Amino acid sequence: MDTVPGHELHGARRVGQWPADELVGLWGRACSGVVKHGFVIEYRDLEPPRTGIFDGLRIVIDPDVGFEMQCFLLLHLFGHSVQWVAPSLEHKLDALQHTEDRQQFMRVLHAYELEAAGFAMQLMHQVGVTTLDQWFSDFVETDWRYVEGYYQTDQLPDWQSCVVRDCKLVTPAPIPELRHHEVQVRFAF
Ligand SMILES: [Zn+2]
Repeated sequence: MDTVPGHELHGARRVGQWPADELVGLWGRACSGVVKHGFVIEYRDLEPPRTGIFDGLRIVIDPDVGFEMQCFLLLHLFGHSVQWVAPSLEHKLDALQHTEDRQQFMRVLHAYELEAAGFAMQLMHQVGVTTLDQWFSDFVETDWRYVEGYYQTDQLPDWQSCVVRDCKLVTPAPIPELRHHEVQVRFAF
């Protein structure tokens, strides 16, 4: 047992240390699921600090980003893409774009992030990935801390300082009907 690296012990896995073999399976299945939901997946060189973008028709990922982050970005940006092209969710985008009060905006933003995470979790389950719920949930919380830190300080925080584990599991949310159309290019949040 003492030859087993810490990150391979059950319960000891942290965001950023996930074994690639488990993620390779996720990547292939998630790509298939995203494409079947009508979105194009594209690799493109993006200007830092951008790691991934979406425009309602395609999800673009920078291939220089680490593989674990690419997996998260694909799921994360799928969730946001759903939010921007589902007619039933259109009314919620107004608050995201036009809430001036900072605290109120942070609440709207958090709800937006969690909703996207729910669609992503649903996609993972749809494509038969059921062993990465904790990984994804921890990543969602880590990402939220990162985004929150950015809004609070106007600077991108150190990613490592945002990493958390054993977070509450994200609840999957049924994916609504989509009507794909181009929207203004958006970043991960
Ligand atoms: Zn986001």
